[in-house]
Amino acid sequence: MISRNSGLSNPGVYALPLLLENLWYKIDTKMLERLKDGLASLVKGQLLFEEPMRNHTSFKIGGPVDALVIPNDLAEVSSIIRFANANGLRITVVGNGTKLLVCDGGVDGIVIKIKNCLDDVAISEERISAGAGCLLPELCHLAASHGLSGLEFAVGIPGTVGGALVMNAGAHGDAMSCIVTKAKVIGFDGQIKELIKSEMDFGYRSSKLQDGNVIVSEVEMQMRKAILTEIERKMADYMKWRHERQPLGEPSAGSIFKNPKDDFAGRLIELAGCKGMTVGGAQVSEIHANFIVNRGNATAEDILQLISKVQQQVAAKFGISLVPEIKIIGRPLSKG
Ligand SMILES: Cc1cc2nc3c(=O)[nH]c(=O)nc-3n(C[C@H](O)[C@H](O)[C@H](O)COP(=O)(O)OP(=O)(O)OC[C@H]3O[C@@H](n4cnc5c(N)ncnc54)[C@H](O)[C@@H]3O)c2cc1C
Repeated sequence: MISRNSGLSNPGVYALPLLLENLWYKIDTKMLERLKDGLASLVKGQLLFEEPMRNHTSFKIGGPVDALVIPNDLAEVSSIIRFANANGLRITVVGNGTKLLVCDGGVDGIVIKIKNCLDDVAISEERISAGAGCLLPELCHLAASHGLSGLEFAVGIPGTVGGALVMNAGAHGDAMSCIVTKAKVIGFDGQIKELIKSEMDFGYRSSKLQDGNVIVSEVEMQMRKAILTEIERKMADYMKWRHERQPLGEPSAGSIFKNPKDDFAGRLIELAGCKGMTVGGAQVSEIHANFIVNRGNATAEDILQLISKVQQQVAAKFGISLVPEIKIIGRPLSKG
């Protein structure tokens, strides 16, 4: 059985619950025991069984995964892939979980979390090579301290370098695709290869890497020399902008929907009367209408229903189908 990321990207309007049901896949008790024994003897990094994914997402939502691994190094990632392939187990990759909605029934198989690992950084002249597990804000400050400009846009984006590359994360008119030159990836066939920028097919918050066939391990970026005080001023301006416009004190996953061409999802959602709308513990933020926040006890089901309601109201008022930007993984709670 092929092991691959089960992430759903961009499900169409009203279609979320239906699509999720198609992805149900529960591993049986025998397989679970094999998974526990196998991983325990394989993993030198961190290994957690039946770990709630809400501990690993900025939404603070998500049911348990059979096994979560924070690997020590790339060799360990390779071994886990080989083990999963040999045993018909699914692998899902996450970074800092800041663009993820994990469903209430949890995730089957193995989650490999690339954060606080694979995080070496090498700087040579104007090039930075960063491990996928580096956190973007930390990397921005490191680049600044070397007088290197290009990453300022990412100072308030709370993801990892790997997650940012996959999502082509961006802000203030810049994005990862503006600075990336190449990336090292490991395929679900265990092959390590290097991809150059043109092979990653970047678009607005999209890349070919979202097909889920590879794990990003390292990213090379081309920066340019600039004056430290100018880089710092830009980063401070961007942070101020966020603090004034985004609900940074509440659990969220950033923007829920992509902006439609020549418009803003937040503007449409607000004009459609959805600001402040709630389902259970989920609420369309009062501060920024393209954010949904977890008011403390939201379930993934609450978020999905709210997404669907917002899509319906915007479609009814403007005839526009808002496309989710967040990645939805896992399965709903089984009924009965
Ligand atoms: C308050 C807040 C503000 C935000 N602001 C912005 C913003 O301005 N601009 C923006 O673009 N985003 C923003 N985001 C969203 C998010 O931070 C970015 O999309 C970020 O790049 C996601 O990185 P991550 O490590 O958290 O990825 P995750 O959420 O863990 O994963 C996202 C996707 O990438 C895949 N993935 C992650 N790591 C790897 C890897 N190493 N190899 C292969 N696949 C991988 C996952 O399978 C998943 O499909 C914001 C989020 C929050 C909570």
